[in-house]
Amino acid sequence: MIKKTDLLQLSSINFAYGQTQIFADLNVGFEAGKVTAIMGGSGSGKTTILKLIGGQVSPQQGHVAWGDRAINQMKHNELYSYRKSLGMLFQFGALFTDLNVFENVAFPLREQTALPESAIKDLVLMKLHAVGLRGAQKLMPAELSGGMARRVALARAIALDPSLMLYDEPFTGLDPISTAITGNLIRTLNDALGITSVFVTHDIKASFKVADEVILLSRGTVTARGTPSELLDSRDPLVRQFVQGEVDGPVPFHVHSEAYRDDLKLESEERNW
Ligand code: ADP
Ligand code: MG
Repeated sequence: MIKKTDLLQLSSINFAYGQTQIFADLNVGFEAGKVTAIMGGSGSGKTTILKLIGGQVSPQQGHVAWGDRAINQMKHNELYSYRKSLGMLFQFGALFTDLNVFENVAFPLREQTALPESAIKDLVLMKLHAVGLRGAQKLMPAELSGGMARRVALARAIALDPSLMLYDEPFTGLDPISTAITGNLIRTLNDALGITSVFVTHDIKASFKVADEVILLSRGTVTARGTPSELLDSRDPLVRQFVQGEVDGPVPFHVHSEAYRDDLKLESEERNW
C-alpha cells in the first residue's frame, strides 16, 4: 500500500531477526506533511518499522526510501546526517534525571551544534513554549508529572528541528488527559513545524483522533491503510475486529494449543497423584 506521492516508502520488505521472520513483502508508505498512526497487535512489528525508517535495522530484501534517498543503502556519514533530520521519541526515552528541564532540552543542541549560549537559550525556550512548559524550565525531572515529562521529552526531540518525527507508543503510561494533550501536541507540532510524523500506538481512540491516516499491521504485512473514517467504515473482518476491539475474530484470542480436555486430564492426573 504505497502511493506515488508518499514521501517515505518501504517497498517489498523482507525482514527477519535471525530466524524469526517479521515482514514478508511489506509495502507501506507515508505521506509528506501528514500524521500517520501505525497500529497492530503486540509483536506485529510496529517498532521494527520505525527502526527501518530510522536506519537502525536494514531489511534483508527491499527498499526504504526517503524521497529519492535510499535509507538502507546509505553509508555511515550519510546515515548520520539523515538521522539528524529525524526526531525520535521512544517509549522509554527517559530524561536525564540529574539535569533540569532546560538542560534536558538544551542537550542535543549542545551536542550537535556550536550555537552560542544566547541562541541555545532562545531555542530551548521556544521548544518549551511549544509544548506549554516554558514555566517549568528550572524543574528537575523528579518534580514533573508523567505527562509533563513526556512533553519535555517531546521538546527535546524537536530541539534540532527535525523534518520527520517518529514516536513509539507516546501515550504509554499516561492518563486519559495527558494522552489527549500529547496527542494534540503531536498534531499541532506536525502542522506548525510543517513536518511529517509517524507514531505507533495501541490507543485506537487517540490514533483516530490525531492521525490523518492509519496503517494496520497484521501477520507480517499491512492489512489496511486509510483515513480514520475509512477504517471505521471498513467491512474487512480483520479491520472491524481491530477497530471495534473485539476479542475474537479473524485474529484468534487463543494461542494455538493442545485440546483443552487433554490439559485438564493431565491436571487431574497430577492432582490424583
Ligand atoms: P511491536 O513493536 O509491534 O510490539 P516489534 O517490532 O518490537 O513489535 O517486534 C516484532 C517481533 O520481533 C516481536 O516478536 C519481537 O519479539 C521480535 N524482536 C524485536 N526485536 C528483536 C531483536 N532485536 N531480536 C530478536 N527479536 C526481536
Ligand atoms: Mg513496540
